[in-house]
Amino acid sequence: MNEHPHDSLPAFALGALDADEASQVIEHVSACPTCRDDAEVWGAVVALLPYSTPLHDPPAHLTAPETVGKPLAPTSLAPGARGKMYMRLGGRQAMLLVAGLPQPEAGKTYQCWFASPPHQTWAVTLNLDRDGAARLFLDVREPLDKSTQVMVTLEPSGGSSKPSSAVVLAAQR
Ligand SMILES: [Zn+2]
Repeated sequence: MNEHPHDSLPAFALGALDADEASQVIEHVSACPTCRDDAEVWGAVVALLPYSTPLHDPPAHLTAPETVGKPLAPTSLAPGARGKMYMRLGGRQAMLLVAGLPQPEAGKTYQCWFASPPHQTWAVTLNLDRDGAARLFLDVREPLDKSTQVMVTLEPSGGSSKPSSAVVLAAQR
């Protein structure tokens, strides 16, 4: 199988790929459940956008170059975990995908933290599915940019007001 077209999926969902690129994505997605899931999520994201986008002619501010995927790398606490946050630079909407997280022990929960200095850090708790994956749609308080930091920590149930040292996933700076 070809390399997963992760970076093309947002543009695909927006109808912003040319015919060749789109047919490559369709070919891959039809054989790859992971990317099919991602494509469905992106379709849902696009449907939620407050612009009703004609698929053949997306507005310039929604096309692929402004949509970035920020990978999250695991620490030794969850070596099999991975994650990616998709966001539109300058926008306030993002989607976080995580997978491969071990189920938290009783009394613990995963919490995802965002920081765009100098603005305050804020956080949401993550509900994992049975496979250790979670998807989160976010409306963030400050416009996202390349310096927006993201990490996932393990916290007491209900979440914490500041991150502990138990970082399981973090975006590279
Ligand atoms: Zn794939």
